[in-house]
Amino acid sequence: MPTSRTRATQPDNVRQGVGRQIALPGEDCRNFLMVPENAPNKLGLELLNPQAKENRNQMATTYYDHDSDLSLIQSKKVAIIGYGSQGHAHSLNLKDSGVQVKVGLAAGSKSIAKAQKAGLETATVAEATAWADVVMVLIPDQTQAKVYAEEIAPNLADGKLLLFAHGFNIHFKTILPVPGIDVGLAAPKGPGHRVREVFTEGGGIPGLIATHQNPTGTAHALTLSYLKGIGCTRAGVLETTFKEETETDLFGEQAVLCGGVSALIKAGYETLVEAGYQPESAYFEVLHELKLIVDLIYRGGLAYMRYSISDTAEWGDYVSGPRVINDESRKAMKAILTEIQNGAFAKRFLADQNSGRKEFMAFREAEAKHPVEIVGKKLRASMPFLDPVTVEEVSKLR
Ligand code: NAD
Ligand code: MG
Repeated sequence: MPTSRTRATQPDNVRQGVGRQIALPGEDCRNFLMVPENAPNKLGLELLNPQAKENRNQMATTYYDHDSDLSLIQSKKVAIIGYGSQGHAHSLNLKDSGVQVKVGLAAGSKSIAKAQKAGLETATVAEATAWADVVMVLIPDQTQAKVYAEEIAPNLADGKLLLFAHGFNIHFKTILPVPGIDVGLAAPKGPGHRVREVFTEGGGIPGLIATHQNPTGTAHALTLSYLKGIGCTRAGVLETTFKEETETDLFGEQAVLCGGVSALIKAGYETLVEAGYQPESAYFEVLHELKLIVDLIYRGGLAYMRYSISDTAEWGDYVSGPRVINDESRKAMKAILTEIQNGAFAKRFLADQNSGRKEFMAFREAEAKHPVEIVGKKLRASMPFLDPVTVEEVSKLR
């Protein structure tokens, strides 16, 4: 166990026990890491923020298959509430891991037929919750509070484990769980469809684990067992908190993964097309090739991407990248993070969701009309090896 719980690259004096003692989250004081006073910070955080030095006691604890006991979750009845992106993946992976699963869905939901066709038992949310020992909430974040209050909470007996795949509703207190139940986080760090696909290929998506309340004392081990059942401990499960998961997840998707990347693609496309270049050329340059570049980064970091590209491209990376993502962009990132931390983002999102999703739908409609989407659809249709999809097609299947 200790090997997987300590960093692979410890300086010698850490191993020799010279330095500060740091308790790991969820550990008793006998189990500590030694961090030398002047240890170089591997993440370079101190360069960016001197306070990061003070936060170094939040060292990553990672769990793998051998740290987790699958039999714990195999001895429980598990309700998966929702059968969408994450719901179908968790249900099917757990079933393949020998766990008893029932999918909780709204009466009349289109997902009932889909889940049954995949060999799963279904029930209403209330019935599945009442039946289960472990209840995983995998419906959209904005509907969880209502469904929890009306259908889940009345059927939760003391000692049951309530799980989430994102900390949003617990962290922002739109769900206040009753004190007698355990509450945990089992969050795969990837899209639901990949959670299923990678599992069937024998791999796993990395995950996060956290415990919000633990009256039984068994929440952590059972959550870790659940994460083994869905394949995450094959890749590594990181110990975190609801606060850290919620805030970093929202920041990542807004500033980099979804918001940042979409804005970068659109701005690059518009710059080229406005300068008179062909839309098709612009599409290949700033969107299609992005995947090929990210695949290299995914396997070997920025260095492997730079190893694979030409020296010309590498030089351009160094001199031009910082002109695009500059001090202004960093200021914007900091402002985004502040609004996540102070709850302003969650408040605006929920206000729109709870009043008919007008802004949300207007954004969705306007974005679908962006020229990069129009030209992209045409080009992807002539590249069948990409397995191109359209939202119209997949939403009909749902
Ligand atoms: P989704 O939108 O894909 O699926 C929603 C499912 O919930 C559907 O089956 C729908 O029928 C069902 N549903 C909606 N309203 C319901 C109701 N009132 N009663 C019962 N069922 C209802 O959701 P998702 O994207 O899988 O997200 C689920 C959770 O997982 C969220 O907390 C999300 O933040 C988290 N998460 C998602 C991803 C992802 O890849 N999508 C990744 C990490 C974490
Ligand atoms: Mg997210």
